[in-house]
Amino acid sequence: MHTEARRNRIPILLALIAAAATVTAVALAGCSGKLHAPGGTTMPVGGLNGSQRTEQQPPQKPEGDGSIQGENGIAVDADHAAITGLKPRLREALTRAAEGASQEGVELRVTSGWRSRELQQQLLDSAVQQYGSEAEASKWVDTPERSLHVTGDAVDVGMLEASIWLGDNGQRFGLCRAFENERWHFELAPENGTGQCPALLPDPSFRR
Ligand SMILES: [Zn+2]
Repeated sequence: MHTEARRNRIPILLALIAAAATVTAVALAGCSGKLHAPGGTTMPVGGLNGSQRTEQQPPQKPEGDGSIQGENGIAVDADHAAITGLKPRLREALTRAAEGASQEGVELRVTSGWRSRELQQQLLDSAVQQYGSEAEASKWVDTPERSLHVTGDAVDVGMLEASIWLGDNGQRFGLCRAFENERWHFELAPENGTGQCPALLPDPSFRR
C-alpha cells in the first residue's frame, strides 16, 4: 500500500529535486521494485555540487617558506609552515580566538603567518615595484630584519568579517591589531600586565 503513495509522489520529487533524481528513483525502486526509472535521465551523482574550483596557481614558491596559496587562507590549526612557524603563545592565542569567533558564527582563517626571510624579501621587492619606492613600500611591508612575521610573532587573518571581529574581540584573547593601515595584521598583546593593546601605529614604518 505504500507503493501507490510512492508512485504519486515520484513525479513531484523528480521535478523538485532534479539533481537527486537518479538517487531518488533508485532508492524508491529498491523498495517497491515496480518503479520506472526516468527515461534517459542520467545525472552524474555528485556532479552538480561536487565541483570545486581548481585554479592553477602561478609558479610555485619554494616549499616551506610559509607562503600561502590562494586567497582564502588556511585554518588556524593547519599543518603548514605559516602556522607551525609561529611562536607557541601566538598559536595558542590564535586558536582560542578562532574558537571564540566560531561560537559567534565567524570563521577566522590565516592569510599569512610565519614567513621565511626569503619570502619576506620577495614581498618587499614586489611592494617596491608596486608602490614605486622603498619609502612607500615600507608602509606596507617590512624588511626581513624587522618583520615580526619572520620571527613568528605576527599573523594576518581573513577574511574581512574575521579581521573586523578580531579587531573588536582580539584583546580578550591577547591579540592586538598593530597598524591602522593593516586591518588584518595581529600580534600578541605586550606582556606588561595590563592586558591592554597599545595604540595603533599609522603603518609599519612608524616602528623605526
Ligand atoms: Zn602582517
